[in-house]
Amino acid sequence: MKAGCSLYPAETRAHTALHVLKGAVVRVLGEQSLLTTSTWVGGSKGRLAVTAARKPGPEELARIEALANRIVAADVPVEVYVLDRAEAERLFGGYIYDAFPVPAEVRRLSIVVIRAPDGSLWNINACNKEHTATTGCVGELRLTKARFRRSKGVLEISFQLRE
Ligand SMILES: [Zn+2]
Repeated sequence: MKAGCSLYPAETRAHTALHVLKGAVVRVLGEQSLLTTSTWVGGSKGRLAVTAARKPGPEELARIEALANRIVAADVPVEVYVLDRAEAERLFGGYIYDAFPVPAEVRRLSIVVIRAPDGSLWNINACNKEHTATTGCVGELRLTKARFRRSKGVLEISFQLRE
């Protein structure tokens, strides 16, 4: 792990990893997986669940892992913008939202943005949790399990961060 990153709680690193991993999942599986249906983090482990039409093959999972680790190695900023909700929706549309709705009474949103080194959008999400300042502090992540729930059309990807 990069120097100074151990100051972050493991959960903060693992939560930030969810954003990094989501970007990689969408790049490999495409628009079918734009919607996050649930997340879980415990210590340096986490699980991301997204919509999916099928279970990815081992080669696709290897690409997802490699792409995620490339963004970690690039150590790009995790940008956070606090915006009026209507303004955020005007600028970014529905891309900021997950399958679980943000309550209607919430009028300001924290928009978390990660850009790839070439400037293209990696991940954008309305999220009010704590994040590391840059992706380098996530540290190397290893996918430990992928499970496709056919009846729900949901893919769950579990990961573990290097301590
Ligand atoms: Zn977040």
